[in-house]
Amino acid sequence: MSPAKKKRKKRKPQRPKTALDIITESFAACGRCSYFWAGYRVINGLEDQEQVAAQTDPDWLTLTWSYPMGELLLKSYGSRFDLDFVHYEGCCKECRRQYVYDALEEEKPPTLKMERVPHLESTPSAAPPQKE
Ligand SMILES: [Zn+2]
Repeated sequence: MSPAKKKRKKRKPQRPKTALDIITESFAACGRCSYFWAGYRVINGLEDQEQVAAQTDPDWLTLTWSYPMGELLLKSYGSRFDLDFVHYEGCCKECRRQYVYDALEEEKPPTLKMERVPHLESTPSAAPPQKE
């Protein structure tokens, strides 16, 4: 390391990563998940995403469910999700991120939970991901 070397870029103070940055990076690592996360922001807004990211559960993110979310799931993951379902579990075909839709409690709005970080090694019986 030569201290005399001039840096071309001006040094900006590094902004610490927010919880939302970390989640967004995790979703951005996968094409389907980044599509989903971007769509979620369109439907529910940035403020909602920040609230989701601030959740303290180490494994799951609980998302806000709304009617357009069903279509977003379908478009993002190609899942055969139907709004008549009371419970649905699926996972991303690319990164194996799991999600769980639950509408078992009729007096409460349905919930959608997504894995914070996909667990690639948790599916030993599945075929190895195919590289294109
Ligand atoms: Zn994915």
